[in-house]
Amino acid sequence: MVSLAADRGRPNALWQEWCAPRGRLSTDSGAGAPAETAGVQYLMPPAAMTDQTARPCHLLCSACYTPCSEADAHVVPHWKPHRRMVIKAYRCGACRPAAIDELRAAVAAGPEGLEASFHAFLVRHGRDDHAEWLRTAAPEERHAVLLAIVDAVDAGQLVLNP
Ligand SMILES: [Zn+2]
Repeated sequence: MVSLAADRGRPNALWQEWCAPRGRLSTDSGAGAPAETAGVQYLMPPAAMTDQTARPCHLLCSACYTPCSEADAHVVPHWKPHRRMVIKAYRCGACRPAAIDELRAAVAAGPEGLEASFHAFLVRHGRDDHAEWLRTAAPEERHAVLLAIVDAVDAGQLVLNP
């Protein structure tokens, strides 16, 4: 069993291992994406917007119902047990850690349907690289890969845009 928690805050070791032979972290990833953005995106306001008046609050944290600025809004995958679906949830910075813990607990429990729905979620959000990582993992590795993806979201290595 690979220790996943130890890699928190650093590029995910499992993910790098998967990317290396595929050249996913190098500049040949196609579409002209710079190496550091291949599979990893950081949430930053477009440069043109930073000098303008801050945009009005228009995202609502779905845990504490506080409107938050785009910069403080985070998309966290959320497991809906009764719908057996991974959906998109918005969380403010304060509520984000709890949402990640909840997601990690759900993934750890491994309910039926979560893996397939998480895969569909990644595809919907244009994360084909991570989706492919999950899809091509051996069945006995998928649980670890899912947890590594949660760790990547937690560490800000995998940022999902609203
Ligand atoms: Zn909140």
